[in-house]
Amino acid sequence: MDAEITIIGAGVVGLAIAQKLSGEFQDVFLIERHSTFGQETSSRNSEVIHAGIYYPKGSLKSKLCIEGKRLIYDYCRNYDIPYNNCGKLIVATSEDEISILEGIVRTANNNGVDDLIMIDTNKISELEPAVFALKAVFSPSTGIVDTHSLMKSYETNTINNGGQIVYGSEVNAIRKIGNGYEITVLDSDKNIFTFSSNSVINCAGLTSDKISEMVGIEDDNLKIRFCKGEYFRLKPPKNKLISRLVYPVPVHNLEGIGIHVTVEMDGGVKLGPDVTYLDTNEYNYKVTASKQEAFFRSAGKFLPFLEFDDLTPEMAGIRPKIQKPGDPVRDFYIAEESKNGGPGFINLIGIESPGLTSSLAIANYVRNLVTI
Ligand SMILES: Cc1cc2nc3c(=O)[nH]c(=O)nc-3n(C[C@H](O)[C@H](O)[C@H](O)COP(=O)(O)OP(=O)(O)OC[C@H]3O[C@@H](n4cnc5c(N)ncnc54)[C@H](O)[C@@H]3O)c2cc1C
Repeated sequence: MDAEITIIGAGVVGLAIAQKLSGEFQDVFLIERHSTFGQETSSRNSEVIHAGIYYPKGSLKSKLCIEGKRLIYDYCRNYDIPYNNCGKLIVATSEDEISILEGIVRTANNNGVDDLIMIDTNKISELEPAVFALKAVFSPSTGIVDTHSLMKSYETNTINNGGQIVYGSEVNAIRKIGNGYEITVLDSDKNIFTFSSNSVINCAGLTSDKISEMVGIEDDNLKIRFCKGEYFRLKPPKNKLISRLVYPVPVHNLEGIGIHVTVEMDGGVKLGPDVTYLDTNEYNYKVTASKQEAFFRSAGKFLPFLEFDDLTPEMAGIRPKIQKPGDPVRDFYIAEESKNGGPGFINLIGIESPGLTSSLAIANYVRNLVTI
């Protein structure tokens, strides 16, 4: 075999896994179709270190987010990655939302997130004087991270461990052979090359279902539906009015967690993301300018200072959803596929939020699925 382990996709998750496995195995390859890392979902998100508040008890999302949060803060301290443990408010702007907040605290406690505090208007105005809310939940362990620096660090550690990262190379076929897989790759000069690997780890994000289909693992439950999230920027100087993350109460099936206020490492503030399932799986990152009114109305409920012209279209990301529109919340799908005829093939599908927060915990989890 040319490689012991081949990882497909250099987003934050593939990089975290490459960093982990290159420290323990020989000949770890990371194959990425773009010319550098993190060109898709990993650089088009809110960069929030989530606390693990909302996810169903016992789910991978819950466990890996809570563990990942702890690991990522430690990692940022050890490797000098810029982060800000700024905390987050979830705000109730009407009486009926207060009971939802109480439910959020109960779910979080049940999940092992025991640091949430219910606060009243006095405390809210002390923390965030420009925000309107009748009550709020304060999450002190939520924060933000410089995702680019984090991925760069995972990349550097992978290379220093002796792992090989191959950019500009798209995996377009995988065939089961003997005790491994033959992988066919098309490089940026349209050259085709093949190599063999004992184990393959599919971290291809938005096209991870297509990679799975290449080895014959095809399941309607694992089909990815592109679900776009758009952002608007809060123009300066009003960004200075906010210093923490501020979220409305989430929608019931967690398709998204509401148009929220995200503070950035440089003090910038953006609003979003919204939730729109796309009709087809096309990479459409265009921001719909006509949504400005909806963003203004939604965030205006808790940002009373907001005026329509304070907003400007910013950017969009696409969630790799396996949850169909209107369906109950789905968990991450992470599995070694022996049961489906793919020994040594590890699928990661539907790694939407909190995938960034969970990246280091996912790497540990995947390590335990590697059988070579
Ligand atoms: C709008 C939005 C907001 C979010 N906010 C947060 C947040 O605040 N906090 C949080 O924890 N998470 C958040 N997330 C989720 C987080 O961004 C993702 O879970 C994470 O980035 C997924 O990383 P990944 O490595 O799995 O996928 P990706 O970043 O998509 O990487 C997959 C890589 O695979 C490559 N690839 C695909 N097919 C092939 C192929 N055939 N050959 C070679 N390479 C291939 C792609 O080019 C890509 O680079 C958000 C997501 C979205 C969309």
